[in-house]
Amino acid sequence: LTVLGLETSCDETAASVVRLSAAGAEVLSSVIHSQIDEHAAYGGVVPEIAARSHVEMIDGVARRAMSEAGIDYAALDGVAATAGPGLVGGVMVGLSYGKAVALARDLPLIAVNHLEGHAVSARLGAETTYPFLLLLVSGGHCQLLEVRGIGDMSRLGTTIDDAAGEAFDKIAKAMGLGYPGGPALERLAEKGDGSRFDLPRALLGRKDCDFSFSGLKTAASRLAQTCETDQDRADLADAVQKAIARQLAERTERAMIAYVEQHPELEQAEGALKQPSAAREAIGPKSKALHFVVAGGVAANKTIRRTLEDLATKHGFGFLAPPLIYCTDNAAMIALAGAERLEKGLTSDIDVAARPRWPLDEARANADPVHK
Ligand code: ATP
Ligand code: MG
Ligand code: FE
Repeated sequence: LTVLGLETSCDETAASVVRLSAAGAEVLSSVIHSQIDEHAAYGGVVPEIAARSHVEMIDGVARRAMSEAGIDYAALDGVAATAGPGLVGGVMVGLSYGKAVALARDLPLIAVNHLEGHAVSARLGAETTYPFLLLLVSGGHCQLLEVRGIGDMSRLGTTIDDAAGEAFDKIAKAMGLGYPGGPALERLAEKGDGSRFDLPRALLGRKDCDFSFSGLKTAASRLAQTCETDQDRADLADAVQKAIARQLAERTERAMIAYVEQHPELEQAEGALKQPSAAREAIGPKSKALHFVVAGGVAANKTIRRTLEDLATKHGFGFLAPPLIYCTDNAAMIALAGAERLEKGLTSDIDVAARPRWPLDEARANADPVHK
């Protein structure tokens, strides 16, 4: 199945052609036009500027994705477009363009949840089989999910205030690092040693798998005002990065322990700290392995990847993360989610609406009204 994917939910205009076969996913092209320069002066994404820029760019970006893939529209099996969540003005541009291509070329349309795109993005780099435990850490979301298959996910935990990427961005802004803050803060942290800073640890006593970053954000933003030298700032960046990594690991560890307990049918990886249980013994040889995936923009952070990889190994999970280029927003993940949906016959009506809010697990998604 060959699918054209379109992504316009935030500040990247992106298009990609992905071919899904028994051998896995092959990215034939992935074109990303970033609007960072257009928003940098404002310290964040300005919705009106974003929507206008998507209108100007989408046709050229989509045509380039087709020509770089070296295929004709006749070779496509479907068109997938992000239908939410995100800035609705931008979402409508990509979705409307996708509808136009679908109508003009008589192709099925697949409306894709942007978060579902992030959820499947690790499959762009390696053969990843379902099910897996997922930590989705992006600019707007921080969630732990059990992913059983495309469109079949349930949420184990979420942030009660800010997302991890948002914390990176806001702290970086307070430190004068510009937008987007995550990559800049990571570069600065390489030269720092944060051990002298004592940042707050949230939700320590809580038994759930939720996250909270607002206390850290406030404390770090206040400390940013006290930094005088470049070394002070580098030290604070290191402390912030480690504090975010630590909370992600602490909450993910809770989810891993629960997931292992609930899935005695899955094999634990070699060399792991095995969790013995009567249920595991009773089932005998396992056909599938435990897998943990981290995805979303923050998964590009090397300290965070390493921390989570160690954690996965400790608890018997195989570790997977998308190649760095597919961590932040791209259309290859949308094309892949679209292809997987198409394979299952999950296509959309041509009058499908954009959804500024759209939770990933269907139980919550269906309870949420669709914004026409
Ligand atoms: P969402 O997917 O929740 O709608 P989004 O699409 O804006 O939000 P992504 O593109 O997935 O988010 O990720 C962008 C976020 O990732 C930003 O907050 C950015 O600071 C963060 N980020 C990117 N690279 C890094 C890095 N190397 N270290 C830390 N954070 C990073
Ligand atoms: Mg972006
Ligand atoms: Fe995203």
